[in-house]
Amino acid sequence: MKFKEFGIKKDILNAIRKAGYEEATPIQEKAIPVIMEGSDVIGLAQTGTGKTAAFALPILNSIEFRKRARVRALILTPTRELAIQTFENFKKYGRYMDLKTVCLYGGAKKGNQLAQLKRGADIIVATPGRLIDLYNEGVLDFKSVDYFVLDEADRMLDMGFVPDVRKINSLLPEWRQMIMFSATMDKAVEDLANQMLKDPVRIQVAAQNDAAETVDQRLIYTKGELKDTIIIQFLQNEIKNPENLSLPRKDRKNAIVFTRTKKGADRLHKALVKAGLLAVSIHGDKTQGQRKDALDRFRSGQVQILVATDVAARGLDIPKLNYVFNYDLPEEPDNYVHRIGRTGRAGESGIAYTLCCEDELHLLYEIEKLMGKEIPEASTEWSLELDRTKFKRHNKRNNYRRNFARRSYGDNKNRPRRNDKHRDNRNNDNHRANRHNDNNRDNKHSRNHRDNRDNRNKNN
Ligand code: ADP
Ligand code: MG
Repeated sequence: MKFKEFGIKKDILNAIRKAGYEEATPIQEKAIPVIMEGSDVIGLAQTGTGKTAAFALPILNSIEFRKRARVRALILTPTRELAIQTFENFKKYGRYMDLKTVCLYGGAKKGNQLAQLKRGADIIVATPGRLIDLYNEGVLDFKSVDYFVLDEADRMLDMGFVPDVRKINSLLPEWRQMIMFSATMDKAVEDLANQMLKDPVRIQVAAQNDAAETVDQRLIYTKGELKDTIIIQFLQNEIKNPENLSLPRKDRKNAIVFTRTKKGADRLHKALVKAGLLAVSIHGDKTQGQRKDALDRFRSGQVQILVATDVAARGLDIPKLNYVFNYDLPEEPDNYVHRIGRTGRAGESGIAYTLCCEDELHLLYEIEKLMGKEIPEASTEWSLELDRTKFKRHNKRNNYRRNFARRSYGDNKNRPRRNDKHRDNRNNDNHRANRHNDNNRDNKHSRNHRDNRDNRNKNN
C-alpha cells in the first residue's frame, strides 16, 4: 500500500519519499488508519518492521503548526539511545513541518533540555525518569497532550518502569489517545496494558514474540571455556578488523556481541582488544558520553564490533548490521528476540549466532518456548551434540532450586545469594532479570523494586 492512500499530508509524504520508503510495511498499513481514527492501539509486529513510523506518521499528520507550541504528543522509551533514535525519526518524518520536537533523557545535563523546553515543544520523546524530574521542576505542562505512546510497551510496563508510567499517565488529560507497540508481549503485561487503554484495537502482524524472518538464527552448543576462542576466531575471520578499515563501508561487515552482565561486557571487550580487534562497548555503568560515543562510532562504521549488554537489545536501528552474536544467553527470553532483531531489519538479511553451554540450557528452553520453535543448530568445529531432552531435567532442577530458596528465605531481599553467577546478575542491565535473583519468577509483578529503580535510573 502506498502512503498517499492513508490521506497523509503532502509535507509528510515528501519526507517519507526522501527517506526512501516506497510502500507501507504491514504493521504500518494496519495501524496508521486505526490511529488516525482516534482509537487506542496495541500493536505487535516483529523487530525491524517499521513500528516507529506506524505511530509517528499519524501523530505528525494530526498536529498543526501553532505559534505557541504545546505538548501534543508524548512518547516514552526504555533507554536513552532509543529515545534519541525515535526523536531523530520524528525529525526525519516531520522535516518539512514547522514543529518543535524535544528529547529528554537522563545522564545528560538538564540545562540544555530545559532551554529547549522553554522554547516550546509540540512533541516530546523521553525516558520516564528524566521526564518526571523535569515535571517536578514545574517546566512541563501536559494539559494538551493528545497522544501518549509507549514504545517497547512490554518493557515500559514491567516493574522497573510501571510506577513512573502510571504517574505520567495520571498527569495526562482523560481524552488522550494511548498507543503501545512492541515485538514481544505476554498475557500478564497485556492485562496490565488494558487497564490503561480504552477499548483498544489490537493489531498483530505475524506471530508474536518473534524476530523478523530475515534473521537467520544459528545455535552453537558448546563448552563455556571455548566461548572466547570461538568469538575471537569468528570476528577475526568475518569482520577482519582493523585490517579492512581501508575498504569502503559497504564492503565491511559489522557485529554486535551481547553479554548478560556489565562485567561480562567489560571482560569480553578487553579480551577482544587483547586479541587485536577494534571494538567499543556499551552498558549501563558507562557515562552517557561514553555510551553515545560508542554507538556513534559503531553506527558510522568507524568501529565494526560493539560489545553490549541488553541495554542495547531493544529498538536500536542500525542499518546494515550483518551479525548479532550472543556470547551468552539473556536471562529474559524476550530479550533474545530483541537482541537478534537488531539485524535483519527493514527486509535486509542478517545472521544471529548464539553460543550456549550446558549451564544455559534452561535459558535456551525458555527462549524456544517463548518463540514456539527451536533455534537451528550450526555445526562448527566447536559444536557439541545437543540433547534437547536435557532441557526438562535442567528445568526441574531449576524449579526445585527456586522453590527451595523461596521456602527457606521467603522474599527477603537480604538473603544470601547462591553463587557467583547470581552475584553477577545484580550487575545486569536488564531490570527484569533481577526478579530471578530473588526467586520471584512465578510472580511477574513482585520484583525487587529497589534493584529495579537503581538499574532503571542508570538506563534512562
Ligand atoms: P521496529 O520499531 O519495528 O523495530 P523501526 O521503526 O526501527 O522498526 O524501523 C526499522 C527500519 O525500517 C528503519 O531503518 C526504518 O527507517 C525502516 N522503515 C520503516 N518503514 C519503512 C518503509 N515503509 N519502507 C522501507 N523502510 C522502512
Ligand atoms: Mg521500534
